[in-house]
Parts: sequence; structure tokens; C-alpha cells
Amino acid sequence: MKIISINAGSSSLKFTIFELPERDTIASGTFEKIGLEDSFYTIKFNGEKVKKEASIPSHTEAVSILMKELIDMHILSSLNEIEGVGHRIVHGGDEFTESVVLNEDIIKKIAQYNEYAPLHNPANLLGVEAFMKALPGVIQVGVFDTSFHQTMTKEHYLYPVPYEWYEKYGVRRYGFHGTSHKYVYNEIKNYLGKENLKAITCHIGNGGSVTAIDSGKVIETSMGFTPLAGLMMGTRSGDIDPSILEFICNKKGITIAEATNELNKKSGLLGISGVSSDSRDIEDAIAQGNERAILAQDMYASKVANYIAMYNNMLDNADVIVFTAGLGENSKDMRKAIVSKIHSLGVTLDEEANDMRGEFKCVSGKDSKIPVYVVPTNEELMIALDTFNLKNK
Ligand code: AMP
Repeated sequence: MKIISINAGSSSLKFTIFELPERDTIASGTFEKIGLEDSFYTIKFNGEKVKKEASIPSHTEAVSILMKELIDMHILSSLNEIEGVGHRIVHGGDEFTESVVLNEDIIKKIAQYNEYAPLHNPANLLGVEAFMKALPGVIQVGVFDTSFHQTMTKEHYLYPVPYEWYEKYGVRRYGFHGTSHKYVYNEIKNYLGKENLKAITCHIGNGGSVTAIDSGKVIETSMGFTPLAGLMMGTRSGDIDPSILEFICNKKGITIAEATNELNKKSGLLGISGVSSDSRDIEDAIAQGNERAILAQDMYASKVANYIAMYNNMLDNADVIVFTAGLGENSKDMRKAIVSKIHSLGVTLDEEANDMRGEFKCVSGKDSKIPVYVVPTNEELMIALDTFNLKNK
């Protein structure tokens, strides 16, 4: 059965077509600069990648171009082959604890959470609308970044602020990257064959979050009310003293929105190193002895290590630590830096095993008290699998 997995952003739309249950990727691609000048799209199929420029004024137009290309490029012989469409939706609040079949009522409910994720949710819903028009009658499923984390208890999701902030305005920890944490947790659980597995999953890419999971249930995750919380990231600050905001607004004569933008876009690895948000550039700068790049990597590793130690305490000793996403899968230096900072947990690294990129592999030493695995994530596949499962329900 062919299922298409969609991630619609404000000016982009990414798709992957899977054959399920085999999990084969049939084709994938991206539409970029939707609604802007110079829009274009790329489609990967049969080991080839085509790139075409086109006028793409809207998500609806992107989807109709895609439908035409799927036939013209002989990716499908008929659009009827698509039996389900899964959509990434960033915020489902505390209401959507699982993936859900979309209809007009559900879409209205999701839209209530747009104010929590104004950059993402409305764009995600544009993708839904476009596919509902293009493929009426085909099951459309919403898969939320927040769902997997909704097993947290109040002890873990509330902030110690006036209770009415939560009751009246929904101020609480929601958590993000849930689709990725769920995917790698299921992969490592199946691999280790342990049903009640206690895992600390570290999704460290451009955005980053660490999650403590016990028997499939999230105990706590490092992102919060928004994805700005928790770890230091590529351009995001992660946790800081909230009083800094008012102080820096007064000092620089900027608004809260401008200061928050700096915390989102100019902080993290970029802010500290002054070099780049990309750890490849940071590693190059470190090789040349750039002190701020060294500091940025050390700080980044410290934050991840401290969350691992905290979550190991919460789990009363984890069975496994997992690294995933851009840095977790590809940066042996960052993995080494993090592991060197959780020595107190008795975790060690096998440097030879760690010398690789993008493989599902155990990288800890034989004497490590907690095994450490690299598990490549696949959020697109997770979205397609949830869609497949709801289709077959
Ligand atoms: P993601 O958000 O998961 O796509 O991760 C993107 C980030 O992964 C990039 O910004 C890089 O910092 C990091 N990354 C990707 N490939 C490598 C690599 N080979 N070495 C180090 N870092 C990498």
C-alpha cells in the first residue's frame, strides 16, 4: 500500500511516498519558496533527482504539480494508488494524545492550537487543505510533534508559576520532536527485545531535545511550552534565566518579540561560536583552534550531558541512551564530547565503533554501565506508519 508523508511549512512542502508495510521509499522531494519568487521543486525517484523551476503561488498549486509529476514521471500509474496521506502537525495541545484521522471538525480543533505554534500549525493545515482537495476520499491523518509527550504527569509538565497561567492560558510543557523520539524508542525497543525498556533518547539536530521514556511512556522531555526550551541548539538558546529578557530589552531598546527572535535565531551554537549554527563548520573551526568554537561545542555537550544525568535519575537508571538526528547520527566528535561528560554514570565510549556516520550501532564501551546506541531517525516513516495503522483499523 502506498502512503504519502507530508511536512508542510509556510513556504515549503516536503513529501515522501512509502510502500507499506515493506517500508520501502518510492519517491521523495521538496517544493520550495512557495508563494515567493524563484520557486522550484525537486523530486527523487529511481536514484535520480530532478529539479524544476515553476510558479508555485500556493500549497494547493504545489500539490497539483506533484500529482501531475507522479503520473508523468511514472512514479505511479494512477493517483488511486495513494491510499493514505499523513501530515506532520506541530502542535496538538494536550487534546491530541495520538495521531488522528482528519475531518473538518478535527481541523477546527487543531486550529485552536495555532496560537501556540503560529509559524508552524497554520502552514501544516495548508498542506492538509491542499491534499483534501487533490485526493478527496483518501484518508488524511494528522501526526503531532506533541502527542508522544502527553503521558507526562503534572509533576513534569507544569511550570512553578501561578496556577491560573496553566488553567486559563494553557501555559505548560508540551514537548516537541515526539514523532522522532517515538520512532527511535520503538526501533531500539524492538532491537533489544525489551518491552519495559527505560530509554533516554537524545534528538540532537538543528533543534534538539532529550526525552526520558519508561515502558513507552514519556516521563519528561526537555522542550517546553515552545521548542525554545531545554538544550542549547543550533540557533536557539534553550533554557535561560527568564529575567534576561526584560533586562536585555531595556539595554538594547528592543521589543520582547525582537529579543525572543534573537533567542530563537541568533543564539545557541551560532551565538556562542560566532561561526555557524552548523556543527560541521564548528568542527572545522575547532580544528583551526578557534576558542569560541571549542567553547560552543563544550557548552552544547554539557547541556545534553546534564539532561541525560537528570533523566537517568528520573528513570531510576536507564537501560539505554540513544543518539539521533543530524548531530546524534553524524557527529562522532559531539557524541564523544557528550559521553566524556557523563562519566559519573559509568558510561564509556568505544572510539572505534563511534568512528562512523548514520549507522544503527552500539557505540559504548564493553564496560559501559549504560549502553549507548546511534539510531537513525525517520519521522517521515513514522508519520506514514501511523497513517497505515489508522487506515487498517
Ligand atoms: P537535523 O536538524 O536533524 O537535520 O540536523 C542538522 C544538523 O546536523 C546540521 O546543522 C549539522 O549541525 C549536523 N550535522 C549533519 N551532518 C553532520 C556531520 N557529518 N558532522 C557533524 N554534524 C553534522
